[in-house]
Amino acid sequence: MQRFNDQIIKIYNTLSGKKEIFKPINKGYIGMYVCGPTVYSNVHLGNVRTFMSFDIVFRYLKHLGFKVRYVRNITDAGHLENDADSGEDKITKKARLEQIEPMEVVQRYTVDFHNVLNTFNFLPPSIEPTATGHIIEQIELISKIIENGFAYVINGSVYFNVHKYNETKDYGILSKRKLEDLIHNTRELDGQSDKKNPQDFALWKKAEPQHIMRWPSPWSDGFPGWHLECTAMSTKYLGEKFDIHGGGMDLKFPHHECEIAQNEAAIGVNPVNYWMHANMLELNGQRMSKSTGNTVNPDELLSGNNTFFSKAFSPSIIRFFIAQAQYRSVLDLTDAGLLASEKGFNRLMDAIKTMENLKASTKSSIDILSWQQSCYNAMNDDFNSPILIAQLFEAVKYINQIKEETETLSSEDLEILKNTVNNFVFDILGLENNAKTNTGTDKLSGAVDVLIRLRQDARANKDFTMSDKIRDELSDVGIQLKDGKEGTTFSLS
Ligand code: AMP
Ligand code: ZN
Repeated sequence: MQRFNDQIIKIYNTLSGKKEIFKPINKGYIGMYVCGPTVYSNVHLGNVRTFMSFDIVFRYLKHLGFKVRYVRNITDAGHLENDADSGEDKITKKARLEQIEPMEVVQRYTVDFHNVLNTFNFLPPSIEPTATGHIIEQIELISKIIENGFAYVINGSVYFNVHKYNETKDYGILSKRKLEDLIHNTRELDGQSDKKNPQDFALWKKAEPQHIMRWPSPWSDGFPGWHLECTAMSTKYLGEKFDIHGGGMDLKFPHHECEIAQNEAAIGVNPVNYWMHANMLELNGQRMSKSTGNTVNPDELLSGNNTFFSKAFSPSIIRFFIAQAQYRSVLDLTDAGLLASEKGFNRLMDAIKTMENLKASTKSSIDILSWQQSCYNAMNDDFNSPILIAQLFEAVKYINQIKEETETLSSEDLEILKNTVNNFVFDILGLENNAKTNTGTDKLSGAVDVLIRLRQDARANKDFTMSDKIRDELSDVGIQLKDGKEGTTFSLS
């Protein structure tokens, strides 16, 4: 099989604010860490977008022949409300409200997360470590940070001393914030905290008597701070310094800034060479977010059971929609956008079917190698999936021209076209042909589409009794047809 790891990849590195040529620490190997979900509620499509951005990165790097160790954690402890150092643990709160064990909450939403990832055809990471499985590593890290003078103990809790750290290092190196501005902008939370300074952050918190998730430590029975788990788990599995760290834009500060500070304070190393941040998915022009409730969950979109969209969409169409935006741009989830993606996706799949039966000629009239390199160039340029998709539509044009015999490809070039299209569409973008997906939702969509076409035929034949019967009987079983400019769509009630 042909290998392409001589391709030159450029990655936009948040640390430098520039696109940089990507050089792995060990030739041929890549270590990549992505912050995983906090498993206290169902994932929404915003979360899916971020994880999908890194799924495509993972798939592309693997395709190029790199041996990628991809670590994506599960946060099952230590993440407090409002992403702050006070308040209740998100998982414990859910457990209290539902009167179940915290670990039942963790189990339920980890299973949900994995189901969603399977539905959307994600590749599993190489390692999926949990925060609760790495308490010892986190305690060791805290001890090192205290030993090195960058943390202090108060009333059984341990805080990172941001001011002390900033005397010799740069707190704000990633997020481009200045400590002076942070001091200026922090509201004093009238004596609620033991911290020396409000900018300090918790490494270990002493558990209140009612706090269920607690572990023994040299400082108190308590639990680790949220930022610490990612430092412990990334460096344990990828080394003190590794290639790529990813996450959503909202994690840049404080979470990732604190990860750098913790590693620098513990072992004197900036842990990551390339920081990648995926931009947000919006709904109605506003960030999709659990805390504001402005969310759509995957099953709501897949079933059509929601108030935002005119019909149900299949996982590959949602994947295609997401890949049509570059991962660093904001993307607004809209009905019009999804409908347009559906059309584009179907056009691509039709062309792929046609491609299988194309006939080769003796000579090529298309420079297929240069088209192939354009596909790689798109992905090499900071994983620019929309440009890649534009190149795939170039291929759709070629396929139709070859079918109509206005252009020709030799048998060797035709093989290159087929392999390249299949590699990029199925292996790298992770799309699945409709025929290959056979979830209940896809089958339902397919069956309703058949009925919609029968109704159109009935109307064309002026058989309105039949067309109304189809509409009414579908309505009786909870499927509403909607006639619009773009044709008939359906929703489930
Ligand atoms: P959480 O479980 O809240 O820690 O989020 C898991 C991941 O989803 C993080 O990388 C977040 O940055 C990301 N995320 C949260 N909301 C959105 C959104 N609206 N769009 C894209 N990514 C998001
Ligand atoms: Zn993290």
